[in-house]
Amino acid sequence: MRARPAESVVDGSKASPKDLPSIDLLLRGARAQALVAEHGHTLVAAQARALLDALRARALLGGLDRAELQAQALQAALQGGVDERLRPRMQRVLNLSGTVIHTNLGRALLADSALQQLLQTMAGPNNLEFDLARGGRGDRDSLVEELLTTLTGAEAATVVNNNAAAVLLTVAALAQGREVIVSRGELVEIGGAFRMPEVMAAAGATLVEVGTTNRTHARDYAQAVNARTALLMKVHTSNYALQGFTSSVDEADIAAIAHEHGLPMATDLGSGALVDLQDYGLPHEPTPREKIAAGCDVVTFSGDKLLGGPQAGLIVGRRAAIERIRRTPMKRALRLGKLTLAALEATLRLYLRPERLAQDLPTLRLLTRPAAAIRALAAQLAPTLHEALAPRFTVEPVELLGQIGSGSLPVDRLPSAGLALVPRQKKGCGRALDELAMALRLLPLPVIGRIAEDRLLLDLRCLEDGLDVQAFVEQLPRLRQALA
Ligand SMILES: *Cc1c(COP(=O)(O)O)cnc(C)c1O
Repeated sequence: MRARPAESVVDGSKASPKDLPSIDLLLRGARAQALVAEHGHTLVAAQARALLDALRARALLGGLDRAELQAQALQAALQGGVDERLRPRMQRVLNLSGTVIHTNLGRALLADSALQQLLQTMAGPNNLEFDLARGGRGDRDSLVEELLTTLTGAEAATVVNNNAAAVLLTVAALAQGREVIVSRGELVEIGGAFRMPEVMAAAGATLVEVGTTNRTHARDYAQAVNARTALLMKVHTSNYALQGFTSSVDEADIAAIAHEHGLPMATDLGSGALVDLQDYGLPHEPTPREKIAAGCDVVTFSGDKLLGGPQAGLIVGRRAAIERIRRTPMKRALRLGKLTLAALEATLRLYLRPERLAQDLPTLRLLTRPAAAIRALAAQLAPTLHEALAPRFTVEPVELLGQIGSGSLPVDRLPSAGLALVPRQKKGCGRALDELAMALRLLPLPVIGRIAEDRLLLDLRCLEDGLDVQAFVEQLPRLRQALA
């Protein structure tokens, strides 16, 4: 055995590894027995072993207090270990970052009706691929196809795992082994590994770049068409904006050129709102309906960006093109699971009642929340939070500018409001803010803010009145403790 550091010999309050109980003794404790009765022997014994291993390691370093080996303390530690092991790693958080559709925080929130639909259809068997009228095998896409065609004016629709998959599949189905023409101004990276040129390569198509970074003209597309061309494509630049001396070609004009040569034209909208956001007082974002009307043969967009549903890739367009996409073998690998389909169907159904959408669809509800209401909430919460953070931080209500997020309308800002948490001491301010941000993240319901200009900002747009606010306030004493 390794020699113990001298201090643990001198200091009688420190425990040595010899003082540790056996695993059997630990498991004979009253709380351990109750845990075994509840969870079974396997989990509790594994946690008991892990607990003793951790204590032994600390005892060897001379850092274990004898008090921690008292029966009661050990039983409590075992209980804590079991609870922690069973705690889900994916958990709810409060998104006070100011970005409503935040990719790192799960993007769109599901509507109540989508959650209900999941609960009702997932606990038992369902008609995922069963035609109840005919009594035979059905097609899972048909559960949402009619809704998607109604909402976009397209002839046909199919759905896959996400929009990246929708683009990959569209290119593979329509242009494998042939050429796809795309403007140089639209060869975007959408974050992570989704870069347009690489998607083309992965789909087995050859990318033909036309125009320049800032300007592309109709004649650029027309001149690039040749016998190897299979598809003309436009890509929404989503997360960046070109400003100044720029020009790009509308879908209608690209589609006209494609159709002159008997070729299809596809557009990747990225977010793609299903309704005109201007009707709800927000900046306009292109809709699939507009693009179908402009003559696009295929339009792809995400399920969990502005649409406000689960992660999915939606592909709508002309029947012939959609049929080819559906028949591509890759479709089977990218298809939607039943959970997603259930949530997607329920979300799309909400669009049949556009007058109610701003209440029923959380994404739209949050995006249209009036700044005045957010400001009032900030004024209401400021004193309470100020009290919890005193004396190290001051808290003031502030006007903020938020974002829609997920590449939607990157230059538009949403007037919002929130709380600025400011360290009282200028010295060591950065450290104090990091510590505060961590304490907020480690709360039972983690709070995610953003640090800017020596302040921690909590944008309250996504803290909804009622349960959210209550949960936020209820854990302030724990925040106070964590910072003490
Ligand atoms: C977000 C986005 C994608 C990727 O969509 P996911 O649903 O995240 O896979 C593709 N293209 C554009 C233009 C986008 O904005």
